[in-house]
Amino acid sequence: MSSKITMVMYHYVREIKNSRYPEIKGLEYKLFEEQIDFLRKKFQIIRVEDLLENLVQPKYTLPENACLLTFDDGYTDHYEYVYPLLRKYGLQGSFYVPGKILAEDAVLDVNKIHFILASGMPVDQIIQKLFDRLDQYRSQGVELESNEVLFERFAVANRFDPKEVIFIKRLLQNGLPEHIRNEMTSALFAECMQRSEQDFSRELYIRMEQMQEMKKDGMFFGIHSYSHYWLGKMQKEEMHKDIDQSLAALEPVIDLNNWVMNYPYGSEGAYNDEVLSYIQERGCKMGLVTDARVADLAKDNPYLLPRFDTNDFPPKSENYLKLK
Ligand SMILES: [Zn+2]
Repeated sequence: MSSKITMVMYHYVREIKNSRYPEIKGLEYKLFEEQIDFLRKKFQIIRVEDLLENLVQPKYTLPENACLLTFDDGYTDHYEYVYPLLRKYGLQGSFYVPGKILAEDAVLDVNKIHFILASGMPVDQIIQKLFDRLDQYRSQGVELESNEVLFERFAVANRFDPKEVIFIKRLLQNGLPEHIRNEMTSALFAECMQRSEQDFSRELYIRMEQMQEMKKDGMFFGIHSYSHYWLGKMQKEEMHKDIDQSLAALEPVIDLNNWVMNYPYGSEGAYNDEVLSYIQERGCKMGLVTDARVADLAKDNPYLLPRFDTNDFPPKSENYLKLK
């Protein structure tokens, strides 16, 4: 018996190579199958309910090598590819769905950015277009720091992306005032994709009927905010409203007195003390972040449990062995 758990985080899981968007950064379905085989051999894949029980009554009765599968962002991929495979093996996946994709036929900025980057337009050209737009705002009297200062601040490579890509992501995710980043993201998305946002949204995201079907089959659903912004960077009222709206949108598939939070972006800025206290007030019992290490219920804050990325496990890598 143990207090430790290895959590794995997934985003896109699909047949990527021959798809319409072969450049999208996701997990090829074939590799997902291989990874699930690996995880089934090495770990015991448990259910969120097992984990919640251990948090309420901390007796730490998790099996040795416990593992939890988590899927972020509510993609159709999760219904089409993930769910059938997990069902075949009797495994539970937990799925964290932003409320906005259910309540509105919109594409989240975070996904617009992914598809802009996967559109085939060279990164340098995207950056040049962003700089041109910023110059336009400045010429209209909007006060913004210089392109050089912005680049310097946000262009910092991470484990997965080079600095130019991170610059585009950070600038459009939170580096600019909200209305400006929304406008810039939408303009660039329209230019790159040449499809209506509504069509794209319907193709990209899971629907409530599909979620209800999955839930009947034992899958678990959790909260991933409403708008998929950085909750820790919002004004308090705005943050409360976002969480309230996300609970309302997911209500058919969650228990309002016993739900799980998965903070969008999951690292610094994704949460703060006010976020943690508000979600507890609203009935949240566990929170997930993106530090890549094994979670230990005996030591970790239950509202900040770390998760590995799919890329940390075979067949992609063996990073999980080093990051313990
Ligand atoms: Zn997300």
